[in-house]
Amino acid sequence: MGVAPINKLLIVGGGTAGWIAAASFAQLLQWQECEIHLVESDDIGTVGVGEATIPPIMDLNRVLGLDEDEFVRRTQGTFKLGIEFIDWKAQGTRYFHPFGNYGADVGHVDFVHYWRRLRHELGETAGTLEEYSLSTLAAKAGKFMRPDANPRNVLSKIAYAFHFDAGLYARYLREYAEERGVIRHEGKIVDGVLDDRGFVEAVLLDDGRRLDAQFFIDCSGFRGVLIEQLLKTGYEDWSHWLRCDRAVAVPSGNVGPPSPFTRSTAREAGWQWRIPLQHRTGNGYVYCSDHVSDDQAIATLLGNLEGAPLADPRLLRFTTGKRRKFWNKNVVALGLASGFMEPLESTSIHLIQTAVTKLMTMFPDTGFAQPDIDHYNRVTATEYERIRDFLILHYVANRRHGSPFWDECRTMPIPDTLADKIELYRSRGRSFRLDDELFTATSWQAVFEGQGVEPEGYDPMADAVPFDKLHSTMDRMRETLLRGAGAMPTHADFIARHCAAQ
Ligand code: FAD
Repeated sequence: MGVAPINKLLIVGGGTAGWIAAASFAQLLQWQECEIHLVESDDIGTVGVGEATIPPIMDLNRVLGLDEDEFVRRTQGTFKLGIEFIDWKAQGTRYFHPFGNYGADVGHVDFVHYWRRLRHELGETAGTLEEYSLSTLAAKAGKFMRPDANPRNVLSKIAYAFHFDAGLYARYLREYAEERGVIRHEGKIVDGVLDDRGFVEAVLLDDGRRLDAQFFIDCSGFRGVLIEQLLKTGYEDWSHWLRCDRAVAVPSGNVGPPSPFTRSTAREAGWQWRIPLQHRTGNGYVYCSDHVSDDQAIATLLGNLEGAPLADPRLLRFTTGKRRKFWNKNVVALGLASGFMEPLESTSIHLIQTAVTKLMTMFPDTGFAQPDIDHYNRVTATEYERIRDFLILHYVANRRHGSPFWDECRTMPIPDTLADKIELYRSRGRSFRLDDELFTATSWQAVFEGQGVEPEGYDPMADAVPFDKLHSTMDRMRETLLRGAGAMPTHADFIARHCAAQ
């Protein structure tokens, strides 16, 4: 074909995105003759937040060949079985969005329809959906273990992710990447050089150095040094749907053993996260600056910490949305440079990872085939839009009447794709994965149910199972799950035994 391969790649930025990209490319391109360079500026630093993940991070760890115990130990990590949402539906309510599935196969339709039928027949005695989730039961009991190897054992059904210290995570991946030949440069990019097609040829640093490459990965955070400042790609603003635009973050000392879940508590104009780590707890208030001042947000956060603050609060500003193109010419934006949809369901690190995976299936040559670039942009835009819809659901389905921020969220126009999903669920409780989207039916069910979106009926196929058989199967299932969760070690014991930081 005669088109030259890429032999020099430059990653701009050394935050979580930059070092995930560097580590992944170092591993995945190990047989290519492609130099990998990374430039970062100590003066600018990183956002330093981003500490909760979702289960597909296992795929990244597998690709990198990380030892999980060592990874948790090095990052002061803990395990995450899901997210507890407090006061989201209305004050005084709580629900759990678990990893893993509800129940088990009963017949041909999704488990949730059998549960709904049982509830229709028996009322409260059918139990809540959460009683059929191993992750929820374990989380509430402060328990954790890795899945049992025997697929017939109920304990094989556990699904989990991690919480970790973002700074330690970047350091750990940096070490991994540098051991595999990634060359790091310290310096601040002040300009770039474009060729006559408008492709980036080099970046210029403040001390006069020039770094040339053929392919650039922009991981420079909200600035988007290449994708925006140099290539002027443009940004699609979603703040009319995802209204929060600021966050204030502060670490605090631990009070009691770390819980195996993230907590998200609704507040006056947004929500507060609590992420337990081994050495401290991460906290932050994500809020809408139209409804609350920075000073009020800081006071709310500090007034709702469980332990003493360990540092001054840090303020972060953002605009929810995405870049108009994730891949423009010879620049691909990853991480915050590509867009940001707020941290409600811990999706940002995941999106870095899937971007790297997609790039590996369509790694360019120096011809930079436009159909490949268009495909990448299309698929990534869809991936963002499906996550966006899921996040909006948390806000729009609220009953926090009389609170201006929440009233605004409840009554705002929503994307048609989300309106269709809600309508479908309201009818017969059905939810399907659209366009291979990240969140499964279980996730949608958890949030629909938790936020009080009630279906009128259930799938009629659920009536095909004789009622007595359904009743006894479901009773047994509930007991088995409860017993299974009870048999697990506590989260704190599991960490102490396998992966306590030194
Ligand atoms: P940054 O961390 O900002 O790194 C940018 C890098 O670019 C830095 O190294 C900087 O030095 C460098 N740089 C910038 N400009 C220049 C320049 N001119 N010259 C040289 N270098 C430069 N994600 C999750 O998955 N889970 C979460 O729980 C979560 N919580 C979040 C909470 C908040 C409030 C926010 C704002 C984000 C959260 N995220 C979360 C997102 C997550 O933090 C980011 O996706 C992740 O940290 C990646 O950031 P980044 O590497 O893209 O950018």
